[in-house]
Formats: sequence, C-alpha cells, structure tokens
Amino acid sequence: MEYSGRGLIKHLLPFSCIIVRMKKDFDSIKELHEYYAIHNSCKLKNVATQPVYEITLPSSGILFIGEAPGKNEDLQGRPFVGAAGKFLDELLRSIGYTREEVYVSNIVKYRPPSNRDPQEDEKDACRVWLNAELMFIKPKVIVTLGNHALGRFVPDENISILHGQALKHPTGIPIFAMYHPAASLYNPNLKEIMKKDFKALKEFLSTIPESGTNVFKKREEIDEILKL
Ligand code: URA
Repeated sequence: MEYSGRGLIKHLLPFSCIIVRMKKDFDSIKELHEYYAIHNSCKLKNVATQPVYEITLPSSGILFIGEAPGKNEDLQGRPFVGAAGKFLDELLRSIGYTREEVYVSNIVKYRPPSNRDPQEDEKDACRVWLNAELMFIKPKVIVTLGNHALGRFVPDENISILHGQALKHPTGIPIFAMYHPAASLYNPNLKEIMKKDFKALKEFLSTIPESGTNVFKKREEIDEILKL
C-alpha cells in the first residue's frame, strides 16, 4: 500500500478553537477522561446521558477514531457498542485483532440528538479532549472512521477518494483513512470495500517498525503539534 503524503499542514486549526486549556499530567487515561468530562464546553453534555470514552490502553498502538456516540453508546458510556461496533469487531478479527487490543475514540464525546451529524462548534469543543487523549496514548497509527474523523486530520478531502490509504501527517503518526462501519451496515458493496481496506491496513501495519524510526517525530514535537 502506497504511503501517500499530501500537503497537510493546513489541518492545524486556529488557536481560537481551543476553549479549554490543555492539562497534560494524568496518571491514567481514566483520570484524563474524568478531568475533561468536567472541563469541556461541549453543549451536547446538556442533552446526552453521559460522555462516551474508552479506559483501556491499546497494546497494539492502533487508535480508531469515529464520529460521535449513538444511542447504545450514550446509554453504556463506551464507544462502538452497537451495530456499527459489532461490525468493527468483525473487521478487527478478520485481521487478527480483538477490540481489547486497540483503542477506539470519537471526535465528539457526547451523543448528538437523534444521531444527527456533529456540528462544528461541538467538534471544536471536544478537540482539546481528543488531543489530550492522543498525546497520552501516542498511537503508532490513527485509523479515521468516516469523513468527520478524516476531516480532523486531513481537511477538505473525501473518504470516498482516500479510503484504504495511509497518509502522512505533520505529527509523524500515519493516518489511515477508513469508511465508517455504520455507513456499510446496509450497503453490501461498502461492506466488501471495508473488508478489503482492513486487509490494506494489516499490510500497512506490517511496514511500521515496532519502535524507533525517524519517520516519527520526537514525542515532545508531537505534543507541540497536537496541542494546536
Ligand atoms: N458511531 C460512532 O461514530 N461512534 C460510536 O461510538 C458509535 C457509533
């Protein structure tokens, strides 16, 4: 799979988008989430049951990012526990991973009413939370699920063009573009495409060294870029 780079510096949003200051010194991912569950300005927290997040770190270093929680996630407080999550689990199994070995997050941490698309101000309000999560986990690859997650790292592109490809990012952490599993639930063609794209992901993962390569920036540099 070609590791295709594009001009991605423009992904960095203006400082004005950051409403809540970033705190970095957490002892656990659970503590991080509990902090941001209080210190965030996302208006969806007034209508959602609870924030949705994962508290087990990924032994594989693979981090998936979806869009926003749905009904089941809102009720259980954990990401991808509904129908889309079951398909995600099936895709993971097809390339030899279990859900416990990867980490799953969302652009927005609260369920939008009636599962509508998250709005720009909601994505911005959760941005510092996701950044803190990324800085804590320091994933070896970020797999974006759907257009909202892709747009967070690679703006003005479309998943229908980039799916199944690894893209360079200024952090040095590769971004692998994937369709959202919910989109393929009722579309057999997309389901087949996702199965193929997961095979491409597996192939790409086999090209990433376990540790230490100059493809990746130093941790401090990653921090500097991500906190923007
Ligand atoms: N869809 C998402 O984008 N995230 C979830 O957590 C569940 C469904």
